[in-house]
Amino acid sequence: MSEEVKQESVSLYPVSAPATLKEEKVCIFGTGDLGRSLGQRLLQSGYRLVYGSRRPHSCGPIPSGAQVQSHEIAAQSASLVFVCVHREHYDFLGTLAPQLRGKVLVDVSNNLKKNMYPEANAEYLQRLVPGAHVVKAFNTLSAWALQNGPSDANRQVYLCGNSPEAKQAVAEIATKLGFTVLDRGSLCAARELEDFPLQLFPEWRMPMRLTIGLTAFFFFYLLIRDVIYTYVDQKKDNSFRIMVSLANKVFPIVSLILLALCYLPGVIAGFLQLYRGTKYKRFPDWLDRWMLCRKQLGLIALALASLHVLYTLIIPIRYYVRFRLAQHTISQIKENKTSPFDTTMAWRTDSYYSIGILGFGLYLLLGISSLPSVSNALSWREFSFIQSKLGYLTLLFCTFHTYLYGWDKFLRISSYKWYTPPGYMLCLVVPTLVLVLKLLLILPCVDKSLTRIRQGWEKTDPENDGKKSLLT
Ligand code: NAP
Repeated sequence: MSEEVKQESVSLYPVSAPATLKEEKVCIFGTGDLGRSLGQRLLQSGYRLVYGSRRPHSCGPIPSGAQVQSHEIAAQSASLVFVCVHREHYDFLGTLAPQLRGKVLVDVSNNLKKNMYPEANAEYLQRLVPGAHVVKAFNTLSAWALQNGPSDANRQVYLCGNSPEAKQAVAEIATKLGFTVLDRGSLCAARELEDFPLQLFPEWRMPMRLTIGLTAFFFFYLLIRDVIYTYVDQKKDNSFRIMVSLANKVFPIVSLILLALCYLPGVIAGFLQLYRGTKYKRFPDWLDRWMLCRKQLGLIALALASLHVLYTLIIPIRYYVRFRLAQHTISQIKENKTSPFDTTMAWRTDSYYSIGILGFGLYLLLGISSLPSVSNALSWREFSFIQSKLGYLTLLFCTFHTYLYGWDKFLRISSYKWYTPPGYMLCLVVPTLVLVLKLLLILPCVDKSLTRIRQGWEKTDPENDGKKSLLT
């Protein structure tokens, strides 16, 4: 007990003192999901552990090697306490204020929705126990992630607090547990940290909305052209085409547009820098946001391209295709006719498939290299080579694949049902624009200027120069 009383202040151990760290005892209030997972990892990392529980003798299962005590006794035996209890039950901590004086209290709590309470949970905890040093940390990790150890996507522990020593103590534990610590400043940042886990795919929102919007537009556009038009014009029910034919048109169309939209902000940024003659002016917010979601746009584009591949593979086994093929063969036999081998058609279809396969192969490469575990293994130059050079090549192949699909269809009047261009033509607009703009940017004279700007060169402002010369 005398040792316990001695530990009433924040104790900091240098990282290079493993023997001392092995001795360190930490306390966890709450034997629930997070308390158990965190406790298990702490024990695995060499800490001694005591749980504080309402029911020390009848609490749920705890990791072997840990002790369970009442809150009062557990609080006295460690200088650092993880509060793994929901905020709604924090009241009891107020009564423990004397035992918790001078200790580091780690608030791991989250809320069910934003702005549930007037103040952040950690600030509330600090108000309840003013004598303790409250640090907000570990709330962005799940019990599952803690149990399984840090993975690429779950490597960071954000923390904030008013006492630098207390933050240092928590940071050392997090580092020993294998996490990277990101200090977000004082306890005022607690609300921001508490809002992190409540975000629902924030970077995916814009790409998903765009995908849904484009998919819906092209679905209805092609429904009108391929199904409704045929019904009105020829009284033929083509509605079965919705399931495979229409899907196999909509997915590649949206995929190609999304792929082009990954590269459009890059070329817009290039032209903007050329126009401004400097790289030191901020891009407009919309362009910044657009650039930040390029990875998500690319991954959705890849998913849709994969669907296109799967739909294409089932074409030969479709009833409609087999029926048409059999009909054609039978009618040729009946009429005793043979069609001559069309070399141009053979070249066209083979090129179309081959370029499509190459484009999809590169698409896969882009997708794989965007995985954190792969991109972490690449140097910045390798990563930008794949994402930029090979990315444009992918766009070029996929666009060319679509041009080959269209071939001379654009010359036929029958292609423009109700005066509307076919879907593939519409989807070529953005990729073609991106490729033309990129071509302009890589022209030696333009590329030279852009490279100089990106290396820090700035065009002098004639207006400022004029003012300067007037002043002198
Ligand atoms: P939980 O499984 O419900 O456990 C909460 C624990 O709090 C209980 O096991 C209980 O332990 C204690 N408790 C319950 N009512 C109490 C009361 N009236 N007074 C005192 N103690 C009480 O919850 P959890 O999932 O571990 O979450 C704990 C905290 O961690 C929450 O604030 C949550 O937001 C946060 N968090 C959880 C996760 C996660 O993945 N689960 C992730 C990040 C953050 P005893 O019976 O031993 O007293």
